[in-house]
Amino acid sequence: MPELLFLSAAGLLGLAIGSFLNVVICRVPRDQSLVRPGSHCPHCGHAVRNRHNIPVLGWLLLRGKCADCKAPISPRYPLVEAGTAALFVAVAAKFGPSWELPAYLYLAAVAVALAAIDLDVMRLPDKIVLPSYAIAPILLLPAVIAEHNWHAAVRGLAAAGLLYAGYWILAVLPKGMGGGDVKLAPLLGLYLGWLGWSSVVVGAFAGFLLGGVVGVALMTARAATRKSRIPFGPFMLAGVFLAVFAAAPIANWYTDLLLPTA
Ligand SMILES: [Zn+2]
Repeated sequence: MPELLFLSAAGLLGLAIGSFLNVVICRVPRDQSLVRPGSHCPHCGHAVRNRHNIPVLGWLLLRGKCADCKAPISPRYPLVEAGTAALFVAVAAKFGPSWELPAYLYLAAVAVALAAIDLDVMRLPDKIVLPSYAIAPILLLPAVIAEHNWHAAVRGLAAAGLLYAGYWILAVLPKGMGGGDVKLAPLLGLYLGWLGWSSVVVGAFAGFLLGGVVGVALMTARAATRKSRIPFGPFMLAGVFLAVFAAAPIANWYTDLLLPTA
């Protein structure tokens, strides 16, 4: 029962954070304030009533339409809220009530915001990525001190350097990575390295694999051509979460494939 309570709390926190992320996703690429003005309909400008500002439920109550002008409200708003909540529950289930939990919840929130913004405008804004270089280590510091996890910290920093160097090399190649991807790489390296080297390997390669599969699928469906630019940030971030949740089984499966024991 305490477990259920803990996961429910993570889900509610995820809904609230997801609601804030909708504001971040909409305003950060436009360099607008996150605080003012309050939520309003972009179509008619009327302020959103408090009861309609409740994550997911508000959108359902309004049946996806503005209460004043009846302009449609994108289903992406409730999807971001529900998605953040689901990711928070999964992260809370994976890490439990641990010192690392806040750091990985922060990663989940940053991942949702960056993936949505990259899909919208093909950018990973410095305003989110660069402060995270300081916020992530600060959030991991209690785990280092309380659990004497120096080994994980050093591995995280080494992986951050390694992924930065790897993406930097990819970026100077013709038609290579974007600058935003290069700047995101060390942050993801820190989080993956903290968990272990198998997470670094799985997380880094899963991004390219997912990006390649989706790229080929889009080209097959004629939704993209060889020249279309597909944002890579969402795949990098999805790869990281695949590694967070499943690095060990994937690494074992791959090792068995290469070195069959039977
Ligand atoms: Zn309206």
